Amino acid sequence: MKNEGQKTNDEGQKTNPFFDLNYESALESLDDEFFDRVQPAKFSQHVLRFRNDQLLPILGLNSSTVRDRHFLEFCGHFRGIQSRLALRYHGYQFGQYNPYLGDGRGFLYGQVRGIDGQLYDFGTKGSGQTPHSQSRDGRLTLKGGVREVLAGEMLHYCGIKTSRSLSLIETEAFTREGKLVRGSVMVRFNRSHLRFGTFERLDYYDRPDLIQKLLDHVIQYYYSHLWQQPDSYIRFYAELVERVAQLVAQWMAVGFCHGVLNTDNMSITGESFDYGPYAFIDTYNPYFTAAAFDRQGRYSYRNQPSICRWNLEMLQRPLSAVINISEMEAVLETFPELYTQYYHQHMLYKLGFDRLSFLETEELIDLTLQFLFLTKVNYGQFFCQLGQRFSPEWREDPDSILQDLEFLVSGEDITILKRWCWLYHQLLLERSPKEIQQIAQHLQQVNPTILLRESEIESIWKAISKQDNWQPFIDFIKLRQL
Ligand code: AMP
Ligand code: MG
Repeated sequence: MKNEGQKTNDEGQKTNPFFDLNYESALESLDDEFFDRVQPAKFSQHVLRFRNDQLLPILGLNSSTVRDRHFLEFCGHFRGIQSRLALRYHGYQFGQYNPYLGDGRGFLYGQVRGIDGQLYDFGTKGSGQTPHSQSRDGRLTLKGGVREVLAGEMLHYCGIKTSRSLSLIETEAFTREGKLVRGSVMVRFNRSHLRFGTFERLDYYDRPDLIQKLLDHVIQYYYSHLWQQPDSYIRFYAELVERVAQLVAQWMAVGFCHGVLNTDNMSITGESFDYGPYAFIDTYNPYFTAAAFDRQGRYSYRNQPSICRWNLEMLQRPLSAVINISEMEAVLETFPELYTQYYHQHMLYKLGFDRLSFLETEELIDLTLQFLFLTKVNYGQFFCQLGQRFSPEWREDPDSILQDLEFLVSGEDITILKRWCWLYHQLLLERSPKEIQQIAQHLQQVNPTILLRESEIESIWKAISKQDNWQPFIDFIKLRQL
């Protein structure tokens, strides 16, 4: 993307450090077919509510030299960059093909090389209407913006590759469904805004030439170790399948329900992004759905692995223009096994272990999930408490296991609790004292001590909406980022 090269802004102030980043026109120079050039909406107010200083070092910036006004200029008024590209894409939404999608309330407005050598996108959400808005308003509610910031930071903290928010700026209020709501514009920072649906749209218009062009672009920038290698196309698909298997295994292990796993919300880099009506499960309820409008439970917590597999299968249609379909089918057959391997691995980490035999792993995970299902102990809290209360003494004295916890288990549930403690004790007995120390460390490192349950989100939002008190929001982010 071209930098306007302004050395001073409208008020004659010194140049903005965001303007001088190492921009590349990767997608812009690829083909005009992939986007529409748009203008941002002009809002009468801009209040910086969140700046993600943790992201600045990746851009080679020092937070002490980036002022709030720099954020407002770059992330609110979108100065300093000429190109604002509303990306074109389609997608399967709730199983139905929808050709009326695309960036309807955002645009890509910068691609920049991070100091880690990787290319990153700045994309907006809530910056006004585009040719893809249909009849919608192009806006993002402040609550929606707050929720997306929280999701990105929480998932990042859980070790998941995810988009994060660079900034959240409150803009003027607007009316939605007859109610006045606070508005916002958010800048998303992620590896890529290219989606499965970007390829699906090209297939819809029968453009194998562009499918190949886009695929080459994706490999060159996001799978660069495969660039110009033999069999790079099928190897790309195999790697994407593996990345998605790992991603969904991580979501499942941390209890995250994305809520709207349409193919337009699946990144071609296999990273987690686009957070609308997501939720972390409260109790272990496999049928939990995050989006109220998902009445059939298509995107329920337990369906996420099979839906991701289905999305990868749909992606074979456009890719079959350039990749042999039976080779892709054979690759996709490995998905369930890959998923199970990653899920086991992440669950074992959460339970403190590096490695157990396959049978021990299955037994421990099954029993843990049964225990959580029957007792209705909060999913995140259980693992948090395990990390906080674990003691080497548990190996010597089985009666001390899971004592002294902040949640209570009573009545019939005592039986399953005792079974769990017995099994856990058996596994600890097989470990040396040194290994027990490692378990203690793992448990603390892997299991978050602060949770993002609906109740936490609601109390953060209540402070903002009732008293304009941003402290709980700021505190949450700070604790996550320590
Ligand atoms: P999402 O559910 O956020 O992934 O969005 C699905 C589609 O609807 C995308 O094409 C969005 O750009 C579009 N969209 C969602 N909300 C709005 C809005 N308020 N205004 C315009 N387009 C929207
Ligand atoms: Mg989306």
